[in-house]
Formats: sequence, structure tokens, C-alpha cells
Amino acid sequence: MSTSGRGLSPGQYEWLQRKLKGFALSPEAWISTLMNYGVAAEYLTGHATACPVCGGDDRFTYDNRSGRGDWVCRKCNDGYPMAGDGLQLITRVNRIGLFRLMRELDGGSPPPASRAAQVNAPGPKRKADPAFVEKRLNGMWRDAQPQAVGDLSMRYLHERVPRLTAVPSSSLRLGMLEYRHEKRLLGKWPGILARFELPDGRLGTLHRTFLDPVKPAKATIVSADGELLDAKLNDMTLNPLAGGAVRLMQPVDGEIGVGEGLETVYGAHMETGVPVWNCLNRVLLSKFVVPEGLGIKVVHVFMDFDHVDPKTGQSPGVAAGMALAKRLRAEGYTVVPHRPRVRGTDFADQWKARFTASHESALTTRRATNVSPVAVAV
Ligand SMILES: [Zn+2]
Repeated sequence: MSTSGRGLSPGQYEWLQRKLKGFALSPEAWISTLMNYGVAAEYLTGHATACPVCGGDDRFTYDNRSGRGDWVCRKCNDGYPMAGDGLQLITRVNRIGLFRLMRELDGGSPPPASRAAQVNAPGPKRKADPAFVEKRLNGMWRDAQPQAVGDLSMRYLHERVPRLTAVPSSSLRLGMLEYRHEKRLLGKWPGILARFELPDGRLGTLHRTFLDPVKPAKATIVSADGELLDAKLNDMTLNPLAGGAVRLMQPVDGEIGVGEGLETVYGAHMETGVPVWNCLNRVLLSKFVVPEGLGIKVVHVFMDFDHVDPKTGQSPGVAAGMALAKRLRAEGYTVVPHRPRVRGTDFADQWKARFTASHESALTTRRATNVSPVAVAV
């Protein structure tokens, strides 16, 4: 590489030459040094990528061919090819001189936050401004349509919970929702927005279930790296979520049921007839707080019958449900815990299995009446 010593004193120049001569890094240390200086890992795979200096597409390859952090770019020299070593890459990405870079590396100190590093390095998660979150959530809610008979959200729920009799819920809406992953917009999908409210009625978050635009199923969302992403997730949190629920139905005769998922609680509703709320997950289920002013005296806890976690020796869903039951009883409520019959299932599974079985037995009965004696003998 060029070791231009523009602007250096003879002493500095001599120091620099000496340091460069003795400078060596392992392949791993090259990667971490480059990353410390803002060259993202995606550029350092050994395959053709965009260039961290001149951008473009498919023009840069980091190959560390001579063990000096070597790279080549087809366009980096005013549109012509250029090759260099890792130190040169750092100076180009950060627009700093080689002397300054070698002083930093020689000192063994981490690089002062260079411009590129500030831009590229993922920082600690910054807490979003509550005013921004409130505006975002309210905007999403406002732009979405109230759930309606026969819409995609209802068709999805009917697919998961056959013969669902629940009417559209005022706490659910159907919207076109953006899916972002690692700050990148992957696209828009139709999705169910579920309004998660705290015991005092304030909004906690909007939970989103992204749906396939055509068939009543969850959306298949894949990241740029080919990773299959979760189709169900919360949006930003406006207020801490502990204690809240998605209030899908009105309590009836002072009774409400809670569980840890939309389909699960609708399945539980079909199994028992109890009006249900969704606490989203088992941790939030265990923290559920009965809101005042609604006359609720009886709480049904619909647990997921998860397989035993070998670390705790417990079924996580059952443990969370029983923790809630214990606390609510201590607070004076009547609590009715419910557990699916089969381990590894939830109430959506149980309801669907019952529906399928009854459907099949009805079919079998119908067939049996028409069946020939020969077939019966078989
Ligand atoms: Zn380039």
C-alpha cells in the first residue's frame, strides 16, 4: 500500500514506517479491527458485496489474500479498480490519516468514535420519545378498519378457531401494516391490530398479527438474509405492559377469562362460553391485574399446557397460570384455572381437535349408513 507521509514530520514519518513494517493481525483480529472502525460484517464475508467506500453493488471483495486485511474494489479508483489492505480500508472509510490510525492502534486504545463508526455501529437501544410512540400507535389505530364480519381478520380467526361464534371485537382492527426488520422496511401486509390496554384503560401497545394477503393464514415474512421472521409481534411500547390485556369481550355476570394468545383465548371461549381477554404471552398473563369498575369477581385462567422445561421441571404455561391464580385468590377473586387435556397443546388446539373429531365422526356415521356389507367385513 502507499505509505504517503504528507504533512508528517521526518520523525513521525520514520515512526510510521517502523510501525507499518511490524504490523500484523490474525484474520480474526482483522475482522474485529475493521468492524471497530465501522466496516460492517456484511462487507467482510469474502464474497462480492457493495463497497463500504464507494457504495455500488457487487463490486467489493474482502479476501484477506495476503493476511493484511486485503480487499479489492472494481470501482474505487474514480470508477477504476483498486486494491488495498485493511489499514487503507479503514482510512478510506473513516477519512482519517494513516499516521493517526497507527497511533490509535499502537496505543491499543479503542478507536475514538469515528464518523463511520458512529453511523454504522448499533448503539444501545435508545428509548423512543413517548410523544412519538403515542402518535405512531394512534395513527396506526386510526388508519385501520374496525373488525367486521367476513373480513380477512375474521376469516383468519375462523380458520384457526372453526365455527367461532364471537362477534367482531372493538379491540381488534384490520390494517395494512409496515413490517420493519433491523431498521429496514420489508414491505406491507394486512394485519390484525390488537389494542393492549392497562388496568386503568391507558394504551400499552398495539399487538400485530401479519396476515397473508390472499389466504386466511399468517404471513410468511423473510428477512434479506433469508431468516423467517415472526408474523406476530408488538409494536412500540407506550406504557409498561404489566397488568394489561386485549379486552376482546365484555365481562358477563362478573366473569372474565384470560389466556396468552388470540387464537388460544378464542378457542377457550368456544370450549367454555366464558368471555375472554388476551394477555399476549405467559409472562404478561402471570402479571394480569383485574381492572376496577367492571364488576369482575371471577377470573378463569386458560393456561397453555406446554411441555416441561427441563431447567425448571415445570410446564411454563401452567406455572405462569398458577402464579396468576394464586395472586388473584389472595386478592379475593374467585379463580377457575383451566388446562387443556393433552400436554403440548393450548385451547385453540383442543377446540380444533374436538371440531375435527366431531366432523370426522359425523362423516363416518354418514358413510356407515351407506356402506356395503363387504366393506364392513374388511
Ligand atoms: Zn469501492
